[in-house]
Amino acid sequence: MSRTARPHRPMRPLWRCRACGAEWPCQPARLALLMEYRADRTALLVYLSTLMAEAGAQLSQLNGHALPENLTDRFLTWARAG
Ligand SMILES: [Zn+2]
Repeated sequence: MSRTARPHRPMRPLWRCRACGAEWPCQPARLALLMEYRADRTALLVYLSTLMAEAGAQLSQLNGHALPENLTDRFLTWARAG
């Protein structure tokens, strides 16, 4: 069984996608999450909030300064719409 279709998962602590290298959640990851949680948007937002907190802590530690300010857009705003 080939594994050419790698899942778009975050690589900690950089929070880049393991599959495509984009900032996670990349577009394919967002689509996959929306599919996975299509019946329960609230659960998706809770899950993303948890990941955003984790990413914020790890990224700010890496950067040696405050949180990246686009984290809310990156993790939550796209999931709220629709
Ligand atoms: Zn990706």
